[in-house]
Amino acid sequence: MKKIEHLINGKLNSNFVNNTSSVFNPATGEEASQVVLGTEKCVQNAVNSAKNVYSSWSAETPLMRSRKMFKLKEIIESRKNELAELITLEHGKTFDDALGEVGRGLEVVEFACGIPNLLAGNYTSEVGRSIDSWSDNQSLGIVAGITPFNFPVMVPLWMFPIAIACGNCFILKPSERDPSSTLLLAQMVLDAGFPPGVLNVVNGGKEAVDAILKNKDISAVSFVGSTPIAHYIYQEAAKYGKKVQAMGGAKNHMVVMPDADINLVCDSIMGSVFGSAGERCMAVSVVVPVGKETGDAIRTKITPMIENLKIGPGLEKSSEMGPLVTKQHLDKVKNYIDIGIKEGADLVVDGRNFKLQGYENGYYIGGTFFDHVSTDMKIYQEEIFGPVMSMVRSESMVEALEMVNNHEYGNGTAIFTSDGGVARKFANECQIGMVGINVPIPVPMAYHSFGGWKKSIFGGHAVYGMEGVRFYTRLKTVTGRWPVGKSLGAQYTFPNNS
Ligand code: NAD
Repeated sequence: MKKIEHLINGKLNSNFVNNTSSVFNPATGEEASQVVLGTEKCVQNAVNSAKNVYSSWSAETPLMRSRKMFKLKEIIESRKNELAELITLEHGKTFDDALGEVGRGLEVVEFACGIPNLLAGNYTSEVGRSIDSWSDNQSLGIVAGITPFNFPVMVPLWMFPIAIACGNCFILKPSERDPSSTLLLAQMVLDAGFPPGVLNVVNGGKEAVDAILKNKDISAVSFVGSTPIAHYIYQEAAKYGKKVQAMGGAKNHMVVMPDADINLVCDSIMGSVFGSAGERCMAVSVVVPVGKETGDAIRTKITPMIENLKIGPGLEKSSEMGPLVTKQHLDKVKNYIDIGIKEGADLVVDGRNFKLQGYENGYYIGGTFFDHVSTDMKIYQEEIFGPVMSMVRSESMVEALEMVNNHEYGNGTAIFTSDGGVARKFANECQIGMVGINVPIPVPMAYHSFGGWKKSIFGGHAVYGMEGVRFYTRLKTVTGRWPVGKSLGAQYTFPNNS
């Protein structure tokens, strides 16, 4: 059986490991490999490797770091199919979707190529007589990232390219459910000429995470995953004095106004609710039509579209939706559908009994559609993270907006309308971090930043873009007098310009 190891100091190893965990191919249900689970000693080993290289790496000129980043961009581009195939084999999403994931991650590498410009500080001469002042963005040291299963390449790429371009060394702890593509990505970093130790990968679960949180030499932690764990990471990392950014879960609403183009709406629902089997933090899971006619029109048009969704192994070209990531997750999603029925929601399309001939042990589920869901139901309140669409009907845009704002999650939302004034009011007044106007999955580009509000984020720092540069650096401001003038004698008043 294939073993997935750590990548520390430029070498694969299985040192300091007490246990392993199975990695499955969700398309077939077969166990594909075993991933090693790192211990505290393993994390320390990775930190030692990072410490050895940090002083020389952080002293490299930003331009040299940028050139390596350009090389990484070339390598990822030329080997993107290998990355995408590994994603599909362990995550289950379709190959084209996986390629899209690699492409969006690559955009952050492209952003990080501009690091000489992004790191630039500022300078003011004559802040006082013969005194100049300049501010500089300096690296933090050794930083860590803990990533979820649903984007094993893109989410690590949200973090480490910017961190290492800023001069830090990075410890990456990928999801234990699909670590192979992340590991290949880290090998590409070595191939691009980054010195061993600048990026180390420690595989593992809670034990490795806790060791990262406690480690005195790690000064900042980036986390992306579910809300309960994001909250835990935020509290623990802060307890140990670390800078922390922690992205959590989501429940994203799509509000549909009566003047929206119903064809665009239904195509957008299909991609954003059922793409990647709903395992995206920016997936739409709640559709909120305004007015009975809008709801009825969506129901009539979308029902056969969901019933005819082509579900199959992610590597088959014809598949529009692949399986869920694990058997455990499949059971969880099915359980939510049972709950929805018990709660009295109107089950229009039931995906629970979907079976695929020849792949009976794969973790497949059909697209599912509940109409007449109400806000007191568990299937509305909680993140299901599967291909389940809930429709909550509303009477007005104000009522829909209130619903969006009352939900505890605040990651993404979208409004579909042809009225600019309505769209503007919605975008201005919603309590959500990322908003789409006739765009269903408004994931910001690499040069903007990604981050939700409310329980979708802890720590306040969004990821990538300039927020990423700010997170992975700290400001130093120098005030200097040069050449040294004649002393004016001791001055006991606070220095000022009067
Ligand atoms: P998860 O929270 O289960 O795991 C994320 C990471 O935390 C993994 O590396 C895992 O090993 C680790 N972890 C899990 N349990 C832990 C524990 N008890 N103690 C310490 N570490 C632990 O998330 P997941 O299931 O891998 O990913 C799906 C979740 O991630 C969804 O909730 C989704 O909304 C969220 N997500 C959020 C964003 C965002 O930017 N807001 C992006 C992608 C995914």
